Amino acid sequence: MIVVMKQNASQEEIDSVVRRIEKLGMQAHLSNGEERTIIGVVGRTQPVDRYGFEMMGGVEKTVPILAPFKIASRDFQQENTVIRLNGVKIGGPEVVIIAGPCSVESREQLLETAHAVKEAGAVILRGGAFKPRTSPYSFRGLGLKGLELLAEAREETGLYVITEVLSADKVSLVSEYADILQIGARNMQNFALLEAAGRTNKPVMLKRGMMATMHELLMSAEYILSQGNRRVMLCERGIRTFEQYTRNTFDINAIPALKQMTHLPIIADPSHGTGKWELVAPIARAAIAAGADGIIVEVHPHPAEALSDGAQSLKPEKFAQLVSEVRTIAEAIGRSTWQ
Ligand code: PEP
Ligand code: MN
Repeated sequence: MIVVMKQNASQEEIDSVVRRIEKLGMQAHLSNGEERTIIGVVGRTQPVDRYGFEMMGGVEKTVPILAPFKIASRDFQQENTVIRLNGVKIGGPEVVIIAGPCSVESREQLLETAHAVKEAGAVILRGGAFKPRTSPYSFRGLGLKGLELLAEAREETGLYVITEVLSADKVSLVSEYADILQIGARNMQNFALLEAAGRTNKPVMLKRGMMATMHELLMSAEYILSQGNRRVMLCERGIRTFEQYTRNTFDINAIPALKQMTHLPIIADPSHGTGKWELVAPIARAAIAAGADGIIVEVHPHPAEALSDGAQSLKPEKFAQLVSEVRTIAEAIGRSTWQ
């Protein structure tokens, strides 16, 4: 249920609604919109006496939230969530470009890529220090050294940094270095990790599991949100289908469909969504046209030598070309890109 407060409701009235919710053993999640405050009531499955709340001072109405994801739903918050990283806003009118190598491999590789993507128009640098790999014998990342290199690249370029955190016990370590925590497809339902990320105030990019429905993705987002961290963005990165020509099937439907269901920003990952560098630009363009709030793209100066995901990595020149195309598409739909 949500409690919609009147436009002129006082702080006192809001506080007493919150107290009543807490007295009933539930949690109150406030959404301070431009016009009014909305209070989400979550934490139990039995019905609540809505009318008791409607009698309270400052309350305009109560509305049941039908979706099982509460805080993530558009019913709870109509306006888009905008995640601010100092100057950059994710989820606002400007489309955000995130790029970098799949894995941080070396100082030279990371800095060369970071400068190149910055030059091309990216505002956030990606790069895995802890890599989830199908085989335990594959390159699994540089770990702490990788985080240190990401911090150095941020220092040199001014780019923000997003990197994956693989387990709950690494959330505080990765948070020391990252501006955005990435939770990968394989961990979308690692509930301990989701809750640990929810207890930080770092922005989190939650990737859709390769066999997860949109509904399951939103329920996972709810784990983070319900711990108090509202700075969550979702990432469509392709799902597994019977098609084998591409690594995954990028689900373009998910972008406008998630936009209907949730107020959270949606980022598109055409690299994992296709697995083939030749398909990355067309799918990135399509994702922006479909309403994505940003793209995350793998870029490597020498894809043939990459220690992970070389086949889907763009060379810097191709990436620069893609950014200019994305800009054109963004403008065609009344948006622009952060530079
Ligand atoms: C990645 O971003 O490099 C990655 C491992 O992505 P995903 O979790 O979507 O497979
Ligand atoms: Mn990758």
